[in-house]
Amino acid sequence: MLADKLKNIQQRIDRACTDHHRQLNDVCLLAVSKRKSAALIRQAYNLGQHDFGENYLQEVLDKQSSLDDLPIKWHFIGQIQSNKTGPIAENFSWVHSVDRLKIAQRLSQQRPQHLPPLNICLQINIDNEDSKAGFDITTAQTEAAAISTLPNIVLRGLMAIPATQQAFTEQRHAFAKLKCCFNEINASLGNNKMDTLSMGMSQDLEAAIAEGATIIRIGTALFGSRD
Ligand SMILES: *Cc1c(COP(=O)(O)O)cnc(C)c1O
Repeated sequence: MLADKLKNIQQRIDRACTDHHRQLNDVCLLAVSKRKSAALIRQAYNLGQHDFGENYLQEVLDKQSSLDDLPIKWHFIGQIQSNKTGPIAENFSWVHSVDRLKIAQRLSQQRPQHLPPLNICLQINIDNEDSKAGFDITTAQTEAAAISTLPNIVLRGLMAIPATQQAFTEQRHAFAKLKCCFNEINASLGNNKMDTLSMGMSQDLEAAIAEGATIIRIGTALFGSRD
């Protein structure tokens, strides 16, 4: 049952925060609802879950229209085609998957003026995998400096999807790399410091919390496997 799964994840978060000396309030649970129905999202909302992450634009726009009576905070976490930035700029509070300067520029231009600035994270290809999107860890600092000056968007932090690892130490190692990149960029940013590390999924949320995650993105452990 969804209520049990949500409770179970909250317990995992609680325990990881205790074990690694983190404040419970500093870790936000983002429910990843791709390939899951609007009805299930509504059920999760009614259980107190208010932030939802989605990967596929058309799918989420459809769900948003049937859930528009709920003040859900929507996060876009999927790959972004540059011709799709308009609806992303218009329909989300957060975008975690900004992976090139051009995307940030377009989101900045297309964010409607009547909405608060769009919160963005830069996706970092932390393990340098050909199969994954994201900025190279060595060039991210220069790109972040350029992006942090754009209007209508706020550079909030970094996001990564590390290569799958089973062992806790290996999982932690990848997240530590992201944290290190985050600290380096922040040291160069002046007044507009980032405050968000979007890292950790169903299999590795404990390791991510140990290394400072502020948003964990949980799909399978909450909604079951995806077909
Ligand atoms: C699907 C997805 C998740 C959720 O992963 P689970 O392993 O199902 O918890 C998190 N982040 C991103 C970017 C995803 O695409």
